[in-house]
Amino acid sequence: AHLDRIGDVDPAVHAFLHVSTEDALATARDVDSRRAAGEDLHPLAGVPIAVKDVVVTKGLPTTAGSKILEGWIPPYDATLVERIRAAGLPILGKTNMDEFAMGSSTEHSAYGNTHNPWDLDRIPGGSGGGSAAAVAAYEAPLAIGTDTGGSIRQPGAVTGTVGVKPTYGGVSRYGLIAMASSLDQAGPVTRTVLDSALLHELIGGHDPRDSTSINEDLPLLVDAARQGAIGDLRGLRVGVVSELSGEGYQEGVSARFTESLDLLRSLGAEIIEVSCPHFKYALGAYYLIMPSEASSNLAKFDGMRFGLRVEPEDGPVTAERVMAATRGQGFGDEVKRRIILGTYALSAGYYDAYYGSAQKVRTLIQRDFDAAFAQADVLVSPTAPTTAFKFGEKLDDPLAMYLNDVATIPANLAGVPGMSLPNGLSDDGLPVGFQILAPAKADDRLYRVGAALE
Ligand code: GLN
Repeated sequence: AHLDRIGDVDPAVHAFLHVSTEDALATARDVDSRRAAGEDLHPLAGVPIAVKDVVVTKGLPTTAGSKILEGWIPPYDATLVERIRAAGLPILGKTNMDEFAMGSSTEHSAYGNTHNPWDLDRIPGGSGGGSAAAVAAYEAPLAIGTDTGGSIRQPGAVTGTVGVKPTYGGVSRYGLIAMASSLDQAGPVTRTVLDSALLHELIGGHDPRDSTSINEDLPLLVDAARQGAIGDLRGLRVGVVSELSGEGYQEGVSARFTESLDLLRSLGAEIIEVSCPHFKYALGAYYLIMPSEASSNLAKFDGMRFGLRVEPEDGPVTAERVMAATRGQGFGDEVKRRIILGTYALSAGYYDAYYGSAQKVRTLIQRDFDAAFAQADVLVSPTAPTTAFKFGEKLDDPLAMYLNDVATIPANLAGVPGMSLPNGLSDDGLPVGFQILAPAKADDRLYRVGAALE
């Protein structure tokens, strides 16, 4: 049914870069026969899933939205994909994304735009616009996203889906094509909070192949979602981050946010205001740290090891000239912009002023979170300042595009978990997102509060 749905709507939505029909059907048949044989299966066995194209999948093309990886077939599965396969979830295909996860609209994909199912003239958010659109368009009930600065949560907000960025280290990064290793996290994209909890528990937990993986059991997420659904939040302290609402937020976004605060109050939660004074520097720090790490991570795409190889048009074929020709053609403008920014910020003489200062700001943001979580059990804000914008609106203005991430980036800098939850529609008829943030390793709180609000 989902493959048929993809066939019907994906020509208009373009959520998928690759549909893995055979792979999906083989898994589905296998699950059927195991079920018929009376085997005890995972609760999600047989439930299809779409995977963002930045996650490597054995035997299925993986491009990270870039021409430089066109034609590359990974020889191995990411840990999270191994877990998905072992539990019997058919993989429907790989979803579109901004090239190397750099962007907030999926317009930076080398393979064309993904369209927001709510209004095909609008962006589905980014970088994981494909995963969010696939779930919103009922092409897939579940999807995997990755979130370095908001790429699960902001697409969730603008497509009316649930998206969760787990605690840093909560889901293995083994087999994710790294953008900024200290910020990247994979997580669920679904239509309900309980679905996210089930998927998060499946893909999360310790992995010895990722040195930053947390060597502890995950908190009980499905239990927390079931508990939250009862709708009793008495005793819960909810902090409204004053720096993440008000000015700069679309009227309809602020209105829905205020209504959700009223709902929380009616469920027994206590609403307090908290201040995180250094959050105003988060965007600046992120756009130095992220390009710095990306410039190093992307050095391996050299025309020799993976995918595309372009030889110089004339003159000698040296390693350096092949590398230059390949990178010149293989990378898009946004990727080049960030590599240049990153190498500049890391270069001798500028390192302390840019990268060094950004790291100090990162520490101040972590301390803001510590202080805020001493007063509140969870923090809340709108996920994104506006609803989905039209194609082209911000494409020529990188700063306007970057501003979309103001509310999502602090969580990545501090490594804390965050959820975006559908929060009704704005006056323009488009979905709004409600963001919940919790302390590191307390992802269960997101599910409790999310399920209560749902
Ligand atoms: N929009 C942000 C950026 O362009 C976030 C990207 C992400 O989370 N992958 O960097």
